[in-house]
Amino acid sequence: MHMLSKSKLLAFRRCPKWLWLEIHKPELRTESAATLARLRTGFAVGEAAKRIYDPDGLGAIIDIDREGFDGALARSADLLTHSRLPIFEAGFAANGLLAFADVMLPVVGNGEQMWKLVEIKSSTSVKDYHRDDIAVQAFIARSAGVRLHSVILAHVDGSWVYPGNGDYCGLLKEHDLTAEVFARCDEVRGWIDNARKIGRQAEEPEVAVGSQCHDPFDCGFCACCHGKLLRAEYPLEWLPDLTAAKLQQFAQQGFSDLQTVPDEILTAKQRIVKKHTLAKTAFFDAAGAVADLAGHGSPAYFLDFETIQFRVPIWEGTRPYQQIAFQFSLHRLNGSEEMSHSDFLDLSGNNPSEPLARALVSDCGDEGPVFVYNAPFEKSRICEMAERHPDLARQLMLIHARIVDLLPVARNRYYHPGQEGSWSLKAVLPTLPSALDYAGLDGVNDGGAAMDAYSEAIRPDTGEERRRTIQSQLLAYCRLDTYALVNLWCFLTSQKPPGLDVEAVGNPAIMPARDSGLHSPDRTRIQAAAIS
Ligand code: SF4
Repeated sequence: MHMLSKSKLLAFRRCPKWLWLEIHKPELRTESAATLARLRTGFAVGEAAKRIYDPDGLGAIIDIDREGFDGALARSADLLTHSRLPIFEAGFAANGLLAFADVMLPVVGNGEQMWKLVEIKSSTSVKDYHRDDIAVQAFIARSAGVRLHSVILAHVDGSWVYPGNGDYCGLLKEHDLTAEVFARCDEVRGWIDNARKIGRQAEEPEVAVGSQCHDPFDCGFCACCHGKLLRAEYPLEWLPDLTAAKLQQFAQQGFSDLQTVPDEILTAKQRIVKKHTLAKTAFFDAAGAVADLAGHGSPAYFLDFETIQFRVPIWEGTRPYQQIAFQFSLHRLNGSEEMSHSDFLDLSGNNPSEPLARALVSDCGDEGPVFVYNAPFEKSRICEMAERHPDLARQLMLIHARIVDLLPVARNRYYHPGQEGSWSLKAVLPTLPSALDYAGLDGVNDGGAAMDAYSEAIRPDTGEERRRTIQSQLLAYCRLDTYALVNLWCFLTSQKPPGLDVEAVGNPAIMPARDSGLHSPDRTRIQAAAIS
């Protein structure tokens, strides 16, 4: 009989095929970058939980890697029988079932020694799949003979403000799910019976890929299941403003490729994308773009922030998951020729918010538009800075009022087949005449990598040489972002681009852009393809 762990049972709840693959073909599992990042950050919450539930550090931590599977189960059983102190990662096994609990706290109930089981989640609310998770956890613990007094789900309280000095008492919000969990025993027993039947099957169950593959997080077998699908040559997902419901409706009508979906059931914008994708030409409403961006004056500024979020805040006065800018890049264009650049990056490990806000106020001048890509993001960060630093609030809100978003202009006036349905700056940039690309950047080439690099740079154990490498990678990445905005603005306003920012494109690998045919348009071709 295969040991059925809690994670396998929860996989079965999402998709029977997932459980079957876990049992019969575990070598096919590959974790996505998002899953690995989720596990890494979940670790920080687990560490904080140890401080909260065991402030004196007297409890026991079961370490399966060090103690081995049997050793970990044996020590857990012994501690659960004899200890009166907190236990972290205690394991239970019974009837072929296996689970490990985040926290077990000794309590006295009805005069008897019992245990409070606490499951820690790094989300900011209780999700339905958490309820299944803890129901399974408690069922296995009770099957193993553990006397449970209560069953608690504790998640991060997103509204809590860290008071500093390592005081994380308010980080977690507890929900008592004891009654609910105890009432679901028969339900859990049914899941176990069905999961065992699937596990015993010789044949892989037939399950179509669907929302269960990614919601609430990626299944580790996506590469295997999705790789077997015949990918459409021109996927419908490239259409803009396409809801999941509409996509499903198209699928039910038998449409899976732009080549077959009729124009009559598409919006005007979707028809543009379809037409230019199939014709392999770019759409550019140059007159419309010029009109959209007329009258903003000069000098023109081009701004981008890089931000960090900590599930467990490290700076006094900040909340879990709060987005805090640690870096900005700012290009300034005066007329069509004169371009200058400034930036800010703080890798000291101190809260960078105030020095960054002061540098921003100083570098943004008093007048002229501040162009960004996806304005709600930059505007929100500036509002938060103004709230945190009242002495700078007026100047920050003046910058806020000058922000102009290039994203809606690009969305409405431009589409190149090389974008493959995306208007992210990284998708648009290689298709522009400037032919810039992020692909050649060293180390940091997207926002997630920038967050990881920043987190590594501010760790006390990161060496000076590594920190300097990260510093130059972060500066190059953010600078390319705002140089990209300069080039996009020049393109949209039909102006000659300024001279090359050698520091933004200093890596020779960045230029020229990859030549895939679709990704190296020339201006003539784009303008010739423009439609009214
Ligand atoms: S990728 Fe989707 S279909 Fe395949 S096992 Fe995972 S959840 Fe099931």
